[in-house]
Amino acid sequence: MFDTLSDRLSGIFSKLRSKGRLTDADIDATAREIRLALLEADVALPVVKAFVARLKERARGAEVSEALNPAQQVIKIVHEELVQVLGGEGRRLQFAKQPPSVIMLAGLQGSGKTTLAGKLARHLKAQGHQPMLVAADLQRPNAVNQLQVLGGRAGVEVFAPEPGNGIGDPVSVARQSIEHARRHMRDIVIVDTAGRLGIDAEMMAQAVAIRDAVDPDEVLFVIDAMVGQDAVATAEAFRDGVGITGVVLSKLDGDARGGAALSVRHVTGQPIMFASTGEKLEDFDVFHPDRMASRILGMGDVLTLIEQAEAAFEDEQKERMTAKLLGGQQFTLEDFLEQIVAVRRMGPIANILSMMPGMGQMKDQLAEVDDKHFDRITAIIRSMTPGERENPKIINGSRRARIANGSGVTVMEVNQLLNRFADAQKMMKQMGGMMGLPGMRRKAT
Ligand code: GDP
Repeated sequence: MFDTLSDRLSGIFSKLRSKGRLTDADIDATAREIRLALLEADVALPVVKAFVARLKERARGAEVSEALNPAQQVIKIVHEELVQVLGGEGRRLQFAKQPPSVIMLAGLQGSGKTTLAGKLARHLKAQGHQPMLVAADLQRPNAVNQLQVLGGRAGVEVFAPEPGNGIGDPVSVARQSIEHARRHMRDIVIVDTAGRLGIDAEMMAQAVAIRDAVDPDEVLFVIDAMVGQDAVATAEAFRDGVGITGVVLSKLDGDARGGAALSVRHVTGQPIMFASTGEKLEDFDVFHPDRMASRILGMGDVLTLIEQAEAAFEDEQKERMTAKLLGGQQFTLEDFLEQIVAVRRMGPIANILSMMPGMGQMKDQLAEVDDKHFDRITAIIRSMTPGERENPKIINGSRRARIANGSGVTVMEVNQLLNRFADAQKMMKQMGGMMGLPGMRRKAT
């Protein structure tokens, strides 16, 4: 799912990677490409327009960050905007003050409504509720039977019209089910209603009648993500005709382009509450806008990394370091130690590296990255006096022996560190602090 969109976006971001800072022209070009990528993913036009406008505004106004490079900054903004488009915080089911709570399901035939009823029942049961399923879809041959099978699998009671009693009236079945639930102490009633292949007046009237009979706490509209924007139009019609309080995306396991998922919240004004991701009962999730946005970006781990980098490098430290380097001061062992400690705060080095795009496949090599090495460097520097850290030139033979002794390493390791540090110091001087290490970026002038 979302594969094409993900690929397009990561292509767009990779072009930004080499940039030192973003010009307005860069932002415009990026916004144009993102607009195209969203349109190709079948996202509704008003959603695309609003998205791109916000993106431009925020990218222009973005403060130059010490911790993030321009590509990371744009990724961060796109991610945050995707989260908003998908519904921001997300919402939980609202329950009635007096049980039973009633959840009514609506949607076109084949949207995955009946399957969803079973999944939702299983999910709520696992949370300690006593749900009951109601077969009020008496239109589709076999729908009652299908719900009974699903109910059996979920271990949940199914309320259905008696067989042989004619077709039955879905409205009265729905009404009776509430009474039944009350008597049998079911705290949640999930009502599966009939769908058609397209919207028609009769179906809408039946849905309204059922709604009035059961007075639902939630009316969830199940939308087939594979259908794209058409599905969103159906959701709109239902919102206006019956009133919906939430949306469920189904068939998110297919190769949907993403249009429905990204449009439905904006178009209907209602939150996406759950996602259905397969034919089995357990293929079901509470919908998390932030996780979905990360998946669309295909870089959930990179986002974690960005957050960790921001957290690890405290502002005060970043400012001090930048000022120092811009002022032409020497990068000392003390600074080096501070950087290592900040990086180490982000977790095991191999994990940090494996979160970089493309590094996931290099598991074997990464396994050889040894955190202890960094810890030994930390120990060596900590065994030095402040004077030695400031000016390593004074570290003669006897001081080296003392430091090696104090940090539990060999004199050779102390020598290696000092040599490498001398090289790094030279390089830092040449580059004038433009190392690109987080926390060491030069402020834009
Ligand atoms: P209804 O007519 O809205 O009640 O739809 P159904 O629940 O009967 O689902 C229609 C078809 O879609 C069935 O074959 C289901 O097995 C299948 N289906 C439902 N949800 C999903 C899903 O999330 N992923 C996939 N791949 N198939 C699903």
